[in-house]
Amino acid sequence: MLKLKMFINGEWMDSLRGDKSHVVNPANGKIMAEAPQGSREEAQMAINAARTAFDSGIWSDLPASERATYLFKIADKIEEKAGELSKLETENTGKPLKESEFDIADTVNCFRYYAGLVTKPNGQTYSVADPVQAMVIREPVGVCGLIAPWNFPLLTGAWKIAPALAAGNTLVFKPAEITPVTTYKLFEIMEEVGIPAGVANLVLGGGSTVGNEIAESQKVDLISFTGSTATGRSIMNSATGNIKNISLELGGKSPNIVFADADFETAIDYTLNGIFTNAGQVCNAGSRLLLEESIHDKFIARLVERAKKIQVGPGDDSSTEMGPLVSEDHMKKILEYIQIGLDEGATLACGGNRITSNGLENGYFFEPTIFVDTRPDMRIVQEEIFGPVLVVQKFKDVAEAIQLANDTSYGLAAGVFSQDGAKALRVIKKVRAGITYVNAYNLAYNEAPWGGYKQSGIGRGLGTFGLDTFTEVKQININLDVKPTEWFSN
Ligand code: NAD
Repeated sequence: MLKLKMFINGEWMDSLRGDKSHVVNPANGKIMAEAPQGSREEAQMAINAARTAFDSGIWSDLPASERATYLFKIADKIEEKAGELSKLETENTGKPLKESEFDIADTVNCFRYYAGLVTKPNGQTYSVADPVQAMVIREPVGVCGLIAPWNFPLLTGAWKIAPALAAGNTLVFKPAEITPVTTYKLFEIMEEVGIPAGVANLVLGGGSTVGNEIAESQKVDLISFTGSTATGRSIMNSATGNIKNISLELGGKSPNIVFADADFETAIDYTLNGIFTNAGQVCNAGSRLLLEESIHDKFIARLVERAKKIQVGPGDDSSTEMGPLVSEDHMKKILEYIQIGLDEGATLACGGNRITSNGLENGYFFEPTIFVDTRPDMRIVQEEIFGPVLVVQKFKDVAEAIQLANDTSYGLAAGVFSQDGAKALRVIKKVRAGITYVNAYNLAYNEAPWGGYKQSGIGRGLGTFGLDTFTEVKQININLDVKPTEWFSN
């Protein structure tokens, strides 16, 4: 069994109190690894190490090209170990191996993208007033607290670690309690390539202890969090003590709008992709399908036919298209939402049950599920379920589609399907969401900004915006005519 450790100030360590937890494979309920459970004390040790490393300039003073070289080396090592990392990601999260392989390849690209970006021209100059020249430079923020979720453990980690390091920051990283395995491997790689001690620290442990300490600490300058909106709200409160920079990538209940003039099979295909990839445990999942009334019945009939054929099974089986839910607790939450939907009067067009046949009884497998006959005020329409559960809403015209699309507290993603390009663009411009698609769904690129409107978050990760998140902006005003101003005459 894999035994994980924390990585603090360049040293591998167990928890000071000897606390441990078991990491479970959700496909069979078996223990796959043992992880130390740190407390506030280990979090403080890691924060102190990151603070000392930052203040020493050991990392931030390196030329950008040297930091980039480290990042390229990290990318190369991840690529070398992609087979092992993909298997571990599948074992820990349950997702099909081909999804893990995709995530690991994307992680490699993320490190390469930021290694390249940080050496490109950066900053601006302004001719503000004669004889003053102003210039704007970007500097690292300082110590970054990075807190990640369990649905894309390594990838969402890379989205934070790569730009934070590229920009010259030091960091304390906390993965989700249930999915620490590939992150642990990433820190092994960071040690192997020689990232200086204290620059990158890994603390394992709970959200209310380790996570809260990072969010509250006066020595942490920035918090970058990906996870649920409820936790994001709590982190925002905790971060007020020293007015931290804050970046929040939170939940969603994203509308996928299909007009009658859409290419039918393309819309079906992306709708399935949008809600059943990673068993719907995707922040930008197209979890609300908004269908133009005239195609509703035909679309649902075809969607149900296709959903029922999705091969649910263990991620390491090559025929598997959808793996289990990440944990027993999460499965219970999904089951509760099914009951809520039924109690509210919605109808199950398919699914709604845990799968306990064909050797899947020890895992947390769930049927691809579609609810129809919904009302906008239902909890299953308003709340993020974060599982393979699609809720369907009907609309009559463009105005109603837009109104329904915007009718939740979230604003992460949205899709529009129509062969009328101008209409599709008009609609997408009216939808209050940060990640949008026309005749597609679920795409994510390292090059493009990632984040939401409304209660889906603050700030943007990825792309050039992702690097900006990890920098402070400084204006430098240079007097080109060095003589007294004589503002005060005596
Ligand atoms: P979560 O909010 O329960 O936990 C996320 C992380 O926060 C974990 O590491 C957890 O230990 C930590 N945490 C919990 N309480 C904390 C506290 N009080 N202080 C500090 N840290 C704390 O989320 P999850 O269940 O791991 O992930 C699922 C959620 O993440 C969904 O809502 C999903 O939409 C969201 N998500 C968003 C994005 C995005 O880019 N917008 C990406 C992936 C996941």
